[in-house]
Amino acid sequence: MHFNPVPDYHMHTPRCNHATGTVLEYAEAAIAAGLTEIGMSDHSPMPGGFDKAWRMDRAELAHYLTEVEQARDLLSDRLTIRIGLEADFHPGTEAWVEEMIASYDWDYVIGSVHYIGDWGFDNPDCIQIWDTWKIDDAYIAYFELVAQSAASGMFDIIGHPDLIKKFGHRASLNNTAVHQAEEAMLQAVLKSGAALEISSAGLRKPISEIYPHHRIVGRAAELGIPFAFGSDAHSPVEVGSGMDQCLAMLASFGINDIAGFEHRTMNMMRITHA
Ligand code: ZN
Ligand code: FE
Ligand code: FE
Ligand code: ZN
Repeated sequence: MHFNPVPDYHMHTPRCNHATGTVLEYAEAAIAAGLTEIGMSDHSPMPGGFDKAWRMDRAELAHYLTEVEQARDLLSDRLTIRIGLEADFHPGTEAWVEEMIASYDWDYVIGSVHYIGDWGFDNPDCIQIWDTWKIDDAYIAYFELVAQSAASGMFDIIGHPDLIKKFGHRASLNNTAVHQAEEAMLQAVLKSGAALEISSAGLRKPISEIYPHHRIVGRAAELGIPFAFGSDAHSPVEVGSGMDQCLAMLASFGINDIAGFEHRTMNMMRITHA
């Protein structure tokens, strides 16, 4: 099977304090990898010092936008660059985030859950907190938050939808409560009309697996939920990485199209060619 290069909509910039490379370097890497469209989606500002060390602050947002717009205009004959954001879904911050999203004409906004309460469960510095949780309960709490993020209607793409597995923790397969939470999450995504992200980032993490799990991809395909691709690149060398593996997984479930975004409108693009 041959795949068309599809947009990589998940990449960061040094403004989040944990990524390297300029926007132009990400763009050049995309061109070198044969991509024709990317989107920048750096970690958004958040209110009240939430996860402050790992994101730009509100005053930087205008500079981020200028930087991406300049790269977009400079390279417009070689690469389509979309302007996005990876916003956190965190109960209590919705009004603030909604106001921030409304302040600009984004091509798309990714909604991601990185926290259960005040636990940054995907942060290596907080890994010891896993010892205080039953794994199944952490999964259930996580899926409930992802379901809420979709139900909020704030986002175009639901980011790395089983990030909770990042360090290799597995929920038990025979726990119906976990299954129900996973199914409720997918139903919420379906109802919201958002795309589910298929992310290659998990391949580069201890779990060494695409986000989300094969089983979730299969069920989402059955429900007709659209997918969008993201590498979650935090360095230009990661742009487009794992794309073929992700597309092969989609194709194995009979999916032929993937979501593209412009001005927050989804349009489907063909992933396969003869
Ligand atoms: Zn990041
Ligand atoms: Fe994320
Ligand atoms: Fe990201
Ligand atoms: Zn991410």
